[in-house]
Amino acid sequence: MTKVTTSTVGDAIRAAASRLEETSPTARLDAELLMADALGMKRSDMLIRAMRSDAPEGFAALVDRRANCEPVAHILGHQEFYGRELLVTADTLIPRGDSELLVACALEMKPAPSRVLDLGTGTGALLLSVLAETSAKGVGTDRSAAALAVAHDNADRLGVEDRARFYLLDWHKEGWADELGQFDLILCNPPYVEESATLEPDVRGFEPHGALFAGPEGLDDYRVIIPQLRNLLTDGGRVILEIGHEQSASVSEIAQAAGFTVELRRDLADRPRALILT
Ligand code: GLN
Repeated sequence: MTKVTTSTVGDAIRAAASRLEETSPTARLDAELLMADALGMKRSDMLIRAMRSDAPEGFAALVDRRANCEPVAHILGHQEFYGRELLVTADTLIPRGDSELLVACALEMKPAPSRVLDLGTGTGALLLSVLAETSAKGVGTDRSAAALAVAHDNADRLGVEDRARFYLLDWHKEGWADELGQFDLILCNPPYVEESATLEPDVRGFEPHGALFAGPEGLDDYRVIIPQLRNLLTDGGRVILEIGHEQSASVSEIAQAAGFTVELRRDLADRPRALILT
């Protein structure tokens, strides 16, 4: 007879966390999130009342995936962004905490924006967060139909589907900006990683390269997008762009050459992370 060993949720989390330490800087948190998912519970409920119960069978397979560097967001199928849970697939960039700065900058606008455009919307994180916090209407674009399907589902989840439209659009094609109309707020987190950058295996191995890489200096997409933005903006409107933390000078230069005034915003770690163009 095979000996059946059961461990408690608490023990299984500890064992998984020590295994994941080799490849993940957030090993303990990862293990807790995966366990909560395997139990079908919220992490907080699990921590309060399930640590002594038997570990569920499905947990080991989830830990194997994470040990292979697959992002937790892909394994769970969702990621929290600006206080809301968004669906995520391998077709979308995983929304990052850094990008919440763009939403915060958008919500500082007075009067609040009424028409919002999100170029390269992915999961819809930027657009949908602003729609959920305001009464604005908005448009999200992406060149990936699979990403737009995720954005649609997220609009439903957040209950803003009647105020959100999505268009398949590639800004590397001539005339892309011609029929979008005008907006008082444009959000954009384009690909901006240098081709030669060494990324974490979680990112390079699992996230869509089309959402990350932008030529030798990571500037290719800014060079295409920024000169078209004036025609998409109403008088007094603003653009909020995410940038890599070493790109503020080069992206500002591109924006100034296109006639914009540029204001720089920093993230909580005091690194330049967003540009506001007016
Ligand atoms: N912040 C992302 C990263 O460092 C890059 C996002 C992007 O290119 N827009 O992985």
